[in-house]
Amino acid sequence: MNFKDLNLDEHIINSLQALGYETPSPIQQKAIPYLLEGRDVFGCAQTGTGKTAAFALPILQLLSKSTVHRKGIKALILAPTRELAIQIGESFTDYGKGLRIKHAVVFGGVSQLSQTQAIQRGVDVLIATPGRLLDLMTQGFIRLDTIEFFVLDEADRMLDMGFIHDIKRIIPKLPKKRQTMFLSATVPEEIRSLANSLLTDPVRVEVTPVSSPVEMIKQRVLYVEKSEKREALHSLIMEESIEHALIFTRTKHGADKVAKDLSRHGIKAEAIHGNKSQNARQRALAGFKDRSVKILVATDIASRGIDVDKLTHVINFELPEVAETYIHRIGRTGRAGESGIAISLCSSEELPYLRDINKLVKNVIDEMNAAPAYPSKAQAPAAAKSGNKRNFGKPVRRYASR
Ligand code: AMP
Repeated sequence: MNFKDLNLDEHIINSLQALGYETPSPIQQKAIPYLLEGRDVFGCAQTGTGKTAAFALPILQLLSKSTVHRKGIKALILAPTRELAIQIGESFTDYGKGLRIKHAVVFGGVSQLSQTQAIQRGVDVLIATPGRLLDLMTQGFIRLDTIEFFVLDEADRMLDMGFIHDIKRIIPKLPKKRQTMFLSATVPEEIRSLANSLLTDPVRVEVTPVSSPVEMIKQRVLYVEKSEKREALHSLIMEESIEHALIFTRTKHGADKVAKDLSRHGIKAEAIHGNKSQNARQRALAGFKDRSVKILVATDIASRGIDVDKLTHVINFELPEVAETYIHRIGRTGRAGESGIAISLCSSEELPYLRDINKLVKNVIDEMNAAPAYPSKAQAPAAAKSGNKRNFGKPVRRYASR
């Protein structure tokens, strides 16, 4: 199947060609025909599956073909994070070249002036995070009574991040007669009932991620003590000739320290986390995308919504305490069927976390150096606390890379 088979407009096909998209991804193949028919869609898909184009292309096409020329915002897309909102905005720019569809992105943490000015000039598509949207609605800058298309993106994350009350205040302001697309990577009960309240006779489309992390990503662990980690990280980047990597740390402070340390070694690195101004975060992300910044160091929260094409490496400077977070982190590489590499630095304190992760990924993590003895189950908590130094292999500076 190609994009022409989906009955997409020539302008859109040309934009997709310019972007190098050859075939529609599974979610695009499944959702686009229904959305073009005007049906509501419940999409179960995560980042990396091409979900943005799955809703953006039909919205662009339907808006550009519409013969009714009414003023006001016609499509509203709600996203949980500013980064994701900005990325969706960029996708609309990319896909909508040659069409006269105007869009604006609004999110908190920055001055609202340029956002309200854009809205006052008139937009067809508004991409927003819930808090800022409500704020601008309350101030009278935004009305939603002309909305024809509504997209709730990453609904499960919205819930996790505590946006449910905001969303419940926004929804009654939308016209009842509208087309809705609801997207969520997971479908717990609360999401199911929220979807039921929003969708009318929806089609459910479900896709598994393009690449399953466990199968597609080469996973390795380097055992190294906490105090040796920064040194080991630097050696790792040099010895493996790593050109572009997303590094995860557990804390904001840790992210700053790692980025500063790498910069001191002459490696262009930036940290991105909640204490940074929105401008600083955007600058760091833009630099990472255009590759003027080689290494981006992020906390889990800040990394949400970061989507970088062809990211080759993910490095866990610290292991996450929750094993599922490991899967989320390493899923940033190896996108779209390409293989990526995930390397985790594991200290003796972190051995219990590694054990949980290994259970989840079924022991596919290669060891780059001698493994220390695992603390036995009975010992585990105490060993984790004390660092279990006695059992732990020598701190590593040099390791045999596979
Ligand atoms: P998303 O899941 O929307 O975040 O998209 C993930 C990545 O896949 C983005 O970088 C898109 O630009 C890219 N992408 C989306 N659809 C396609 C396609 N049909 N062919 C190639 N790349 C795509």
